[in-house]
Amino acid sequence: MDPRQAILWNRLGLGPIWTERQAHGADQAVAEEPSLETAGRPEHAVARMGWDELERVVAACTACGLCKGRTRTVFGVGSHVSEWMVIGEAPGAEEDLRGEPFVGQAGRLLDSILGAAGLGRTAGGHSAVYIANVVKCRPPGNRNPEPEEAARCEPFLRRQIELVRPRVILLMGRVAAQAMLGTDASIASLRGHAHRIDVAGLSVPVIVTYHPAYLLRNLADKAKVWADMCLAREVFDRTPTA
Ligand code: URA
Repeated sequence: MDPRQAILWNRLGLGPIWTERQAHGADQAVAEEPSLETAGRPEHAVARMGWDELERVVAACTACGLCKGRTRTVFGVGSHVSEWMVIGEAPGAEEDLRGEPFVGQAGRLLDSILGAAGLGRTAGGHSAVYIANVVKCRPPGNRNPEPEEAARCEPFLRRQIELVRPRVILLMGRVAAQAMLGTDASIASLRGHAHRIDVAGLSVPVIVTYHPAYLLRNLADKAKVWADMCLAREVFDRTPTA
């Protein structure tokens, strides 16, 4: 099979592809290895990793140029058994130094939005949330990640979603929404209704809202984010545990 077709099948969660091994008879089968690699490993290997191995592989990843400028990879934070997941776009300067997502000014606003909804990255009366980004390394000058960079990192994020098995995912901002939903639609048109992401047989409801960094500049839109949180809660309440 054409390696690019094998990659696509793996991306769609349909791989690995099994073909007959001609030289050894019709009853033996072998999986074709796709040639696109993430951190030097076939994508379908990432799709089988547990938390520890996944985090180690991310920390060593050189699959795109963002690795050259990073201080630390920013893997994700929160309980591995969270029913909620938040996905942002990329680490900024403080995240790059500390290795944790959303710890700068936008992160503090995110924490207060989550706290108002009874959610938190740490225990303490809150329901647990797992927080990650579309890319794990800081883009230079805090530019948006390029589609190719997001694509290189995507198997890691998809595996995180698969391991967490959240009941609902919040996508923070245009970059995360467009990358995860595979669209170039505006955030205004993506808000207000639930979407779905299919990850390895799971179909997870997704709510799109504004990025907290945008909110810091446009405080009047806080009410819209609150409406999105209320919608996410409604969707959560009617979604059975995965
Ligand atoms: N913005 C993001 O999207 N993610 C972070 O981790 C920090 C800021």
